[in-house]
Amino acid sequence: MVHDVVLITGDGTGPELAAATRKVLDATGVKFNWIEQEAGIDVFEKTGDPFPDTLLETIKKHKVALKAPITTPVGGGFRSVNVKLRKDLDLYQNLRPAKSYDGVRSRYENLDLVIFRENTDDVYVGIEFEAGKPETHKLIEMLRTTHPKEKIPEDIGISIKPISRYKTERIVTAAFEYAVKHGRKKVTCVHKANIMKFTDGLFLAVAREVAQRYPQIQFEDVIVDNMCMQLVQKPEVYDVLVLPNLYGDIVSDLCAGLVGGLGVAPGANIGEHYSIFEAVHGSAPKYKGMNKVNPTAMLLSGVMMLRHLGELQAADKLEKAIAHVIQENKHVTYDLKPKGQEESAVGTREMADAIIAAYQKMH
Ligand code: NAD
Repeated sequence: MVHDVVLITGDGTGPELAAATRKVLDATGVKFNWIEQEAGIDVFEKTGDPFPDTLLETIKKHKVALKAPITTPVGGGFRSVNVKLRKDLDLYQNLRPAKSYDGVRSRYENLDLVIFRENTDDVYVGIEFEAGKPETHKLIEMLRTTHPKEKIPEDIGISIKPISRYKTERIVTAAFEYAVKHGRKKVTCVHKANIMKFTDGLFLAVAREVAQRYPQIQFEDVIVDNMCMQLVQKPEVYDVLVLPNLYGDIVSDLCAGLVGGLGVAPGANIGEHYSIFEAVHGSAPKYKGMNKVNPTAMLLSGVMMLRHLGELQAADKLEKAIAHVIQENKHVTYDLKPKGQEESAVGTREMADAIIAAYQKMH
């Protein structure tokens, strides 16, 4: 069987990571028909649009995409292509495993956490009101009547944080279904419901309702600030985490840090109809074109994609080949070398080639 996969080549270090990943996936023997698509700063500079018209249609047609990172300008500039893709395709699950591999520098061992981040609600919907604009003033006037006891100043920017019952229910259900399917013991809901009673409070209430349908899985809830401390102190007591969008974004980077950094943290954005697999890390633009960054996170995202496509044998074998190369520590990028030995690191392409060689030696 040939799998149609849209390969979004991204910008910054994206194109070199996409090329290395494509080469490794082709070397697994699984047959792919790659449909390449550009998005991000490079295509923006050529056409004035970071999100070409064909992008959504192509993903809708082929259903599965593997995506290299894409830059989002900070402050001004165009809105995030990543967020737009997740919203327009309703990719409501952001699944981010944080797993220890021997040979990766980290203070922790044997971690195997899975994060379910809600991907379409919360402040990421992008409904914002800029300070000083007439529509912001109108909203402030309304808030002064609904909240007469609050002193609401005039010079504020406002972000809207919608948390819906429906979207919470489906992400928490996805976390529990995953726990059941993969023999996990516990789901932890992370929130700030003590302060945000109508948004995080709703998230927690719905999570508690869903938990009742899964009596075989332990359920608990932890406030997000405490969760950050707990994860640093005793991450081994956690298993599956489910979080609203913003906390999910932040806590999943924290978890990536626990297992050795962004270079080894994969992810998937999954909806009812479409899926996009991508690393947690961004476009690391300072290393653009230097054949320097670690391809592991995007390769492990490729492993997740292979599992999604039903190519379980190739997925297991590729994960083992990646783990082997990391453990051997010979043909790895700078971030996987012990401190002081970064000079003996290899580049993105060479690490990918070593993984292909390890894959081919495996039975
Ligand atoms: P980043 O993840 O791109 O890089 C932060 C640092 O992490 C890098 O400077 C580098 O030291 C390290 N790093 C990242 N990836 C690595 C890899 N594969 N191998 C080795 N080291 C690696 O984060 P940033 O600098 O905050 O973001 C850069 C751009 O990427 C921003 O525009 C941001 O919006 C965007 N971004 C995109 C995505 C995405 O496409 N899904 C995700 C996060 C950030």
